[in-house]
Amino acid sequence: MTEGVSRRLALKSLGATVALAAGVAPFTVLGAKKPRVVVVGGGAGGATVARYVAKSGQVDVTLVEANEHYTTCFFSNLYLGGFRSLESITHSYDKLAAAVGVRVVTDIATAVDADKRIVRLMSGGALAYDRLVLAPGIDFKYEAIEGYGPAAEQVMPHAYRAGAQSALLRRQIVDMKDGGLVVIVPPPNPFRCPPGPYERASMIAHYLKYHKPKSKILILDSKDKHSKQALFQEAWERFYPGMIEWLPGELTGGVKAVDVTNMAVVTEDETHRADVVNVIPPQQAGWIARSAGAAAQSGWCPVQAHNLASKLLPDVHVVGDSIIPGDMPKSAFAANSQAKVCANAIVADLADKQAFRPRFRNTCWSLVATGHGIKVGASYEATEEKIAKTSGFISQTGEDDTTRAATANEANGWYAGITADLFG
Ligand SMILES: Cc1cc2nc3c(=O)[nH]c(=O)nc-3n(C[C@H](O)[C@H](O)[C@H](O)COP(=O)(O)OP(=O)(O)OC[C@H]3O[C@@H](n4cnc5c(N)ncnc54)[C@H](O)[C@@H]3O)c2cc1C
Repeated sequence: MTEGVSRRLALKSLGATVALAAGVAPFTVLGAKKPRVVVVGGGAGGATVARYVAKSGQVDVTLVEANEHYTTCFFSNLYLGGFRSLESITHSYDKLAAAVGVRVVTDIATAVDADKRIVRLMSGGALAYDRLVLAPGIDFKYEAIEGYGPAAEQVMPHAYRAGAQSALLRRQIVDMKDGGLVVIVPPPNPFRCPPGPYERASMIAHYLKYHKPKSKILILDSKDKHSKQALFQEAWERFYPGMIEWLPGELTGGVKAVDVTNMAVVTEDETHRADVVNVIPPQQAGWIARSAGAAAQSGWCPVQAHNLASKLLPDVHVVGDSIIPGDMPKSAFAANSQAKVCANAIVADLADKQAFRPRFRNTCWSLVATGHGIKVGASYEATEEKIAKTSGFISQTGEDDTTRAATANEANGWYAGITADLFG
């Protein structure tokens, strides 16, 4: 795929609200008194950096975000299961602007000139920066699965960027006949939210159990093992016996192609026909990070662990799913944690002061049935090589229901806390 085609695909996939912003042509005046930080991407990573740098009161912060609202991928599986509405996981940037004075620009960053320290915008404007933070999340490697792409995702949704894609997948499951087959195609490592596809299977199964109990879910994995595997399998046997079948990569050989006309998924030596197909393609750093030159050959961005500074571009930091995160998974919790370290380092650096010693944390909760949560988490420190794990924990198989209920409650508390931290 040429870079031009890849760029058009990436920009299209960011959503449509930028059309509303056309005509807005912000340009920061060079020589402004306060140092200027521009953040591209208002998700878990970018919104956090913007808030925490702005809170210092010493920096002008501009957040460039393609969409006017942010629907969280986290808890979008609960929407599929019928536990949450889409509205309840959709947030506006209004309070972020009002509370800490972040200037929120609804636009798409189309280019970075790292020599001139300028970000160009789709509306035609540009923003000058002293420090740039790239937090664009992920893009898909559509070409990795024959027959899949932006048109095919309207038939076989990935629902791995939340919003319209989540609504489409939910509608397809609700419209499916009882006795239908849902195929889930999880991506190879590394990818956003390692437990995500398996929590999704649990949530879809929860819905089917009560509404279409003769239906089945088939997971065609390219991996031989997955996050919280024993815990998910224990839950599936208990809550959805006979409904979910998981086939590892050593049996499937991975999904090679899809045929949207016949609703077929093709593995190395089998073709599976299904009623609903959820294809989650292989992933890479968001397009703007790659086109700026912040990504390595792998498609992900190498960064210094102690401050999230790009190893490839001066005065540029990268946080969240786009980075090579060492031992951390790609999660909203991790992005939020990295973003605070990054914000602290930027403010300290601009003021010529010492930054705090960085510490990182992550927990990934998954809801598997009503009031039944499981979790995995860890603490991390910055070493010369990477963000390195120092200790960890995971739910145990055979835990009692009180513990599982407490874990589910923790997840609800975490969601309320992180969305308040991001959006006010
Ligand atoms: C189904 C599912 C369930 C999940 N569950 C959990 C969970 O329970 N816990 C957890 O911690 N994590 C979870 N995650 C993972 C979490 O959503 C991501 O890891 C997190 O959102 C990454 O944050 P980010 O800031 O890197 O990217 P994002 O949150 O995706 O934000 C990127 C933002 O950048 C914007 N953008 C991109 N390019 C441009 C551009 N050129 N110009 C302007 N704007 C741009 C996008 O519009 C987007 O708003 C889940 C993910 C999925 C898919």
